[in-house]
Amino acid sequence: MKTFTHFNASSVEEAVSLLRRYGGKAALVAGGTDLLGKMKDRILPDYPEALINLKTIVGMDLIQENTNGLALGPLAILEDMAHAHMVKEKYTALAEAARRTASPHLREMGTIGGNICQDIRCWYYRSPENRFPCLRKGGGRCYALKGDTRYHSIFGGSVEEGCIAVHPSDTAPALIALDASIQTSKRTIRAENFFQVEVSRTTVLEPDEIVTEIRIPAPVDGTKSAFFKFALRKSIDFPIVNCAARISTTDGKVDDVRICLNGVFVKPMRAIAAEEALMGEPINEANARTAGEAAVTSARPLHDNGYMIQVAKTLVKKAILACG
Ligand SMILES: Cc1cc2nc3c(=O)[nH]c(=O)nc-3n(C[C@H](O)[C@H](O)[C@H](O)COP(=O)(O)OP(=O)(O)OC[C@H]3O[C@@H](n4cnc5c(N)ncnc54)[C@H](O)[C@@H]3O)c2cc1C
Ligand code: SF4
Repeated sequence: MKTFTHFNASSVEEAVSLLRRYGGKAALVAGGTDLLGKMKDRILPDYPEALINLKTIVGMDLIQENTNGLALGPLAILEDMAHAHMVKEKYTALAEAARRTASPHLREMGTIGGNICQDIRCWYYRSPENRFPCLRKGGGRCYALKGDTRYHSIFGGSVEEGCIAVHPSDTAPALIALDASIQTSKRTIRAENFFQVEVSRTTVLEPDEIVTEIRIPAPVDGTKSAFFKFALRKSIDFPIVNCAARISTTDGKVDDVRICLNGVFVKPMRAIAAEEALMGEPINEANARTAGEAAVTSARPLHDNGYMIQVAKTLVKKAILACG
């Protein structure tokens, strides 16, 4: 590792002011499970001059329910979320997404803020010592396009640079399905609008903006949620595809539904065609299958990743049936 200055922030204001002082050359660190690996492997052409530790800000790790719903500090630990009884009961998709993230050690260190702000996992991009200076790093080409696309997007690339790396977060689709909002040091952003596709950045956060809280509305009666993930290994593995669903029914028919896939596109992607296919229908095998098929009708797989279409269909179906 190269040397850098380390700051223990005592407040959000101090962390923001440090970000501004370093003008894009500082990085926030929460659990460090993503950021420190990137730094050790020197995957990026630029190295941060300063790290700003958020863990020293008191009260940022809360997991708390109030009358409006669930409030999570950005430093809420994934393992704590996975085991909190109230999260498992009422916000099942999120508890399950946290439980299926990485390994026990990483979940003990990893935070919800770091999980949604983590960087992409394209193996060209992550190759040590910046071996592939690709489009996303300001280079001239995408190595994946003509290379190995087994784990890349099946729905196209980012608009400006054309990067086809997928978003790797497990909790992000759960937050979108549960209609969470992300409070930052500047504004409130719906989880659905938090992730980036216009340029090759993972979130819409500005360089001096910090996630300060995540809020999830309390589910109405008759609502269930679920999360499913397909990965090559049972533990310590990123999703090939994951899917979260939240469904409310009245008199046996779906009257509100939100389904979100991740691992299939540059950002977590709502399966709107699947939602439309299910609205007003009862939850059963045939309707869940139809919705799964609807979710992938606009897919445009690359040379190595056509198999992800079947995986996505199946996960959508499973998530719907689990909400029945
Ligand atoms: C071996 C391995 C396996 C993994 N498997 C999975 C997996 O299966 N599923 C999955 O989803 N993830 C996985 N991860 C990715 C990641 O480590 C975890 O998701 C973890 O939750 C990241 O949280 P963190 O607190 O450690 O993030 P950090 O590394 O501290 O931060 C990650 C990024 O978020 C930014 N950031 C952190 N907090 C904030 C904030 N409050 N405001 C603004 N920006 C912020 C940081 O600046 C940094 O850029 C894995 C990582 C490893 C190393
Ligand atoms: S998919 Fe994106 S990150 Fe991967 S090589 Fe291409 S431009 Fe780089």
